[in-house]
Amino acid sequence: MYNKYIVPEKFKRYRLVAIFVIFSLPATALAVTAWFLSISTPFFKSPGQILLVLIGIGALLILSSSLFITYTKHNYLKPLDTIIFLFQSLISRTYKPLPNQTYLGEFKPLYLMLNQLQSSLDVNNSNYSTLNQTTAAQNKLFDTTVFETTDPIIILNQKLEIKFVNLAVENFTGIKKMDSVGKRIDQFVRFYDKNNSEIIPSVYAPVIKDNPARKIFTHPEIKIVSNINRQSFADITVWQPEMGEVIDVSCVIMLQDKTKEKQLEAMKLDFVSMAAHELRTPLTSIKGYISVFIKENEKILSPDQMMFITRINTSTQQLAGLVENLLSVSRVERGAMSLHTQIIDWVANVKSQAETFEHRADEKRISFKFITPEKKIPQVQVDLVRINEVLNNMISNALNYTEPMGKIEIWITFDNDLVCTHIKDTGKGIPKEALTKLFSKFFRVQGGSAEQASKGNGLGLYLSKAIVELHKGKIWAESEGVNKGSTFSFCLPAVAETVDLNVLTKHM
Ligand code: ADP
Repeated sequence: MYNKYIVPEKFKRYRLVAIFVIFSLPATALAVTAWFLSISTPFFKSPGQILLVLIGIGALLILSSSLFITYTKHNYLKPLDTIIFLFQSLISRTYKPLPNQTYLGEFKPLYLMLNQLQSSLDVNNSNYSTLNQTTAAQNKLFDTTVFETTDPIIILNQKLEIKFVNLAVENFTGIKKMDSVGKRIDQFVRFYDKNNSEIIPSVYAPVIKDNPARKIFTHPEIKIVSNINRQSFADITVWQPEMGEVIDVSCVIMLQDKTKEKQLEAMKLDFVSMAAHELRTPLTSIKGYISVFIKENEKILSPDQMMFITRINTSTQQLAGLVENLLSVSRVERGAMSLHTQIIDWVANVKSQAETFEHRADEKRISFKFITPEKKIPQVQVDLVRINEVLNNMISNALNYTEPMGKIEIWITFDNDLVCTHIKDTGKGIPKEALTKLFSKFFRVQGGSAEQASKGNGLGLYLSKAIVELHKGKIWAESEGVNKGSTFSFCLPAVAETVDLNVLTKHM
C-alpha cells in the first residue's frame, strides 16, 4: 500500500487546464455548430429540434465532465491521498522517505518538507529518548545515593507531609519507610532544642513559594523524638529546593546523627563529675592544712621555704578551681545548675568585686579603673555567687591577658531594659577566627605566654555563658585582633523585666 502511493503522478496545473479544455471540446464544438446552424439554416427552427440539440450538448458535457473527473481523480487527486497517507505514516512512525529525485511535479517541495519533518522528528525522538534515559539514570543514581547515605534525609511536600525518607531515617527513628511516607512530619517526629522547647514545622520548614534554592533552617544538636518514642540527637539543616512546587517538594531535611557523640559525652560527663567529686574532699583538706601550716610557720620559714609553700598553695588553689569548674560544667550540661536569686544593686556589686582586683592590677602595673555610671542603673535579680563567678572570670582574664603598662576599664550601661557590664583591656586581643569559639568548652586561643597558659583551663567563658544565659542574659566578646585589646560584655535583664528565675534551671 505504501509503495503504491509513494511515487504519484506528476501534478502540473497547466496539464489540468489542458485536459479540461480537451474534455470540454466536443460539447463546445457541438454547441458552436448548433448555434451556427440555428442562425444560417431553418433546420433548428422547431423547438423540438432545439431541445434535441441542447440535450445532445448536455449529454456531451456530462460525459466530458465525468471523463475529466475520473481522469483528474486518478491522476491529480492521488497525490493528495498520498500526502494524507504520508502524514498518517509519519504519525504512526512508519514513514520511509525515498530519494529526493523520486519526487516529481508541483508537490515535490511538499514531499521534501515531509522528509525533513521526518528526519527532524527522528532527531528529536532520539534526543528525547537519550534525555529520558539520562533522567532515569540520574534519578536512579540520586535514589541510590540518597537512600543508602548514612545520614537521615527526609523530603517533605507542600503540605509538610513526608514524601521520601532514606534508609538511615528508618534506623534513626525506628519507623519503617512505608509507615512514615504520607504522614505529616509532626505526626512522625518532633524536634526539641537544648532547652527542651519544641521546634515546630512552621519554624524549621516554612513553605515559601517561588524562592531560589537555599538553606532555610539549621540548628545544632536538636533532640528528635519519633512517634514510637525513640529519642536521638542530630544537627539539623533544612534546604528549600528551587522550583520545588513543580515536583511538590517544600524542603529537604538533613540530619547529622549525633546520638553516639551525645551518649559518649554523657559517659564522659559521668566520669568527670565522679572524678571531680572524688578529688574535691582531699583537695579541701590539703588546702586547709597548707593555710594552717603557713599561718603557724610564717615566722620560722626561710624565704626559700616560704616561696615553695606559697607556690604549693597557689597550685592547690588552681587545682581546686579546676575541680570546681569541672563540677559546674557537668551541672550545666546535665541541666542541673540551679539559681538562688536575690535582687541587688548591680553597680555596687561590680564596684566591690572590681576593688578586689586592684591589688593584682597594681602589682602588674596595669591601670585599672571602674567608671561609675552617670545615669541611674536599675537593680538586677541574680544568683550572686554564680554571677560574680562570671564577673571575676572576665576581670581575671583581662588581667591575665594584658601586659604591664596596659589599661583595664570596667563600666556599666543600661539600654533596652538590659543592664550591661563591659570589661575593656588593651591586652593581647583575640584573632577574628577565634571570636566565635571563645565560649566553647576547653577553648583557648593558641600562642599565649607560658605564664598565661599555666593559669587557664578554657572553662571560664563556657561557664560564664551558661550562667548568663540561665539569667536570660547575653554575653559576647569584641576585639580588633591580635594585640589590639578586647572588650568582654554581658547583659542581664533589669529587675522590672525579670523573668521567673525559679524556672530558669535548664532541663536537657
Ligand atoms: P581560661 O581559663 O583559659 O582563661 P576562659 O574560658 O576564661 O579560659 O578563656 C578562654 C580563652 O579566651 C583564653 O584561654 C584566652 O585565650 C581567651 N581570652 C579570654 N579573655 C581574654 C582577654 N581578655 N584577652 C585575650 N584573650 C582572652
